[in-house]
Amino acid sequence: MRPNIEFQPPSDIKSFQEQKLAEQLIFLYENSRFYQDLFRKNNIDISKIKTLEDLTLIPVTNKDDLQQRNEDFICVPKNKIIDYITTSGTLGDPVTFAMTDHDLERLAYNEAISFAVADGNAEDTYQLMTTIDRRFMAGLAYFLGVRKLGAGIIRVGNGMPELQWDSIRRFKPNAFITVPSFILKLIEYAEANGIDYKSSSIRKAVCIGEPLRNPDFSLTTLSRRIREKWDIQLYSTYASTEMGTAFTECRFGCGGHHHPELIIVEFLDENDRPVNDHEAGEVTITTLGVEGMPLLRFKTGDVCYHYTEPCSCGRTTMRLGPVLGRKQQMIKYKGTTLYPPALYDILDNIENIVNYYVEVYTNAIGTDEIVIHVGSRLVSETFEKQIKDHFRAKLRVAPQILFEPVDYIEKTMNPAGVRKAVRFLDKRNHHK
Ligand SMILES: [Zn+2]
Repeated sequence: MRPNIEFQPPSDIKSFQEQKLAEQLIFLYENSRFYQDLFRKNNIDISKIKTLEDLTLIPVTNKDDLQQRNEDFICVPKNKIIDYITTSGTLGDPVTFAMTDHDLERLAYNEAISFAVADGNAEDTYQLMTTIDRRFMAGLAYFLGVRKLGAGIIRVGNGMPELQWDSIRRFKPNAFITVPSFILKLIEYAEANGIDYKSSSIRKAVCIGEPLRNPDFSLTTLSRRIREKWDIQLYSTYASTEMGTAFTECRFGCGGHHHPELIIVEFLDENDRPVNDHEAGEVTITTLGVEGMPLLRFKTGDVCYHYTEPCSCGRTTMRLGPVLGRKQQMIKYKGTTLYPPALYDILDNIENIVNYYVEVYTNAIGTDEIVIHVGSRLVSETFEKQIKDHFRAKLRVAPQILFEPVDYIEKTMNPAGVRKAVRFLDKRNHHK
């Protein structure tokens, strides 16, 4: 489960991808109504797209396209579709992803080699603490991947700390697959119920959905809290339904490893031009070997750095740094480019802050302004200055701080009908 291509010189990886790209373009030309239209309207002769650089000749695909022309992206007849997956669309209605038998096999392979990057092997037993149904891709992908790896899996699903601990006691798994904040919940439950979690069989966790590392690879407040309590190895993995591919950290924790046989990744600036190495760009992907709903130059909305020097694990593949934030949420503040997660990480780390939300608006001169609404056990000018100092130390700039009652913030963060607490309020002119 360590594909050879991951250890080849970058020039070999590039030509390998270019060959795969040619195959993918022919498949799209023959089977995708959306891309047939796109090629025709833009006079694109796919036989002229030979290198990865040539990709810039093709317009990008965005989330609105997926929403508005969902059916036209599907490349196979209904009788070839095995599994139906949905993701949230940009306009409310979910977007369907159709998976063929071949796609499920590809997904299994992807997760198996991704677990292998995270030191997984057939001796492992994973406790799956994410949802496997509800039309999600992730849980199913993990199950298929663990099976392909030859490891064991216990499908407990999310939540239910009591059942999680019961499963750990009964089956002695050595690894979790989970959102990292849930590990803190498990620790809390163990402490309250006299479970000696440190002596349990668990040694590592593959973590999804929440960042373990800051863009400079230092641990986030969340992962530091876990590690202070429980010394298990944490591996971060980044994936999405659209990509059908995971970028998973090895034990050296310096970015998620790229699988060149499964996906092409570009990093684009605001004008959809490739950024230079060492610049952050929007992750833009072209899937390889996907049958049901392949994507060409799809803009994910996530902004990342990328790294190309060889990793200490021996792999020569590109690595994707932690997600800085969503492209739409980018804030230009006093000459600095910021994303909300960097602000959250500072606020999560300050004692006496109970809750908060970040508000951004356009000021009189047309630039971004940040106000952090803070619910706090401590309200004083000294504390306000301390908070600002934390921001200056980490980001070189300090936003405005506004103390508010804790329950007012709680209400603002959880308006009726919203499932996930709102931490970011975008009131800028050019945003919805
Ligand atoms: Zn590595």
